[in-house]
Amino acid sequence: MSDTKSLYVFCQKCHENILVDIETDAVEKMASGITSVLSVHGNPQHAALIYVDKNYMVRGVEYPSSLEIEKTVTTVVESTRTSYRQEYLSFSSLVDLFGKKRKEAVWAFSRIITQAFLGGSVYIVHDSPTTASTVVERLQEFFTEDVHIAAVTHDQVKSLSPSDCVYSIQTDEFISEGNSITTKTLEKMVVQCLKDESSFFRFKLDLSKLAFAYRNVKGILAEQKGKIKDTEIAKKAKIEVENVPFLLEMAESEGMDVSGVIHNGLSRIARGF
Ligand SMILES: [Zn+2]
Repeated sequence: MSDTKSLYVFCQKCHENILVDIETDAVEKMASGITSVLSVHGNPQHAALIYVDKNYMVRGVEYPSSLEIEKTVTTVVESTRTSYRQEYLSFSSLVDLFGKKRKEAVWAFSRIITQAFLGGSVYIVHDSPTTASTVVERLQEFFTEDVHIAAVTHDQVKSLSPSDCVYSIQTDEFISEGNSITTKTLEKMVVQCLKDESSFFRFKLDLSKLAFAYRNVKGILAEQKGKIKDTEIAKKAKIEVENVPFLLEMAESEGMDVSGVIHNGLSRIARGF
């Protein structure tokens, strides 16, 4: 028996995180470095063909029709696919708009995304409305649900609330930072995605996966009486345990009680925070 590695992938058909098992042998053998795994799941049943690279990072997802599934003799097929589509404003150019140096930009970008994720108001400031709107549209594309991200000019900033997250892409700075949540998990995600050619797609998929798990985490916390292990939360919320602290912190920032959580799963994982 070959070893398998399990990971969660957000399915854009059923809007849920699905667990996929990948045979480590299969990944090693692929000359292209990309393996694809077919996951047939859901009700009504549908299929997702997931492309995974040697680092077990999702590089693409396709949704074949049922006719195509029948033709697939094996669940693992080699693919030469490495990238998705040409982007007019690439993920890296977008991130780099939020700071003079890459590291600062990653931090500022992560902060803005977290604000929007938590339902806060985000304003992108530039005196050219077209420039600001282009960035706003691109940021909105990451989210499957409605978020509040809008474009304003410097003159309009005065009318905003001090609790809003306001960033000027003209002067490369926050006018106000908004909620003070830690963004380490998201920063790591951004850095990972920046290494990938299909990073825009990947970041959107990762964010959808977090959003799905976050809704589950809030549901679990609301119903929970007494203690619960972080590993149990991860399993129920359908997310890897290393993402649980970030989700809990966001939940806490929204006023939820996280005192009953036992952090046992993380003693086995190097803590990044
Ligand atoms: Zn699905």
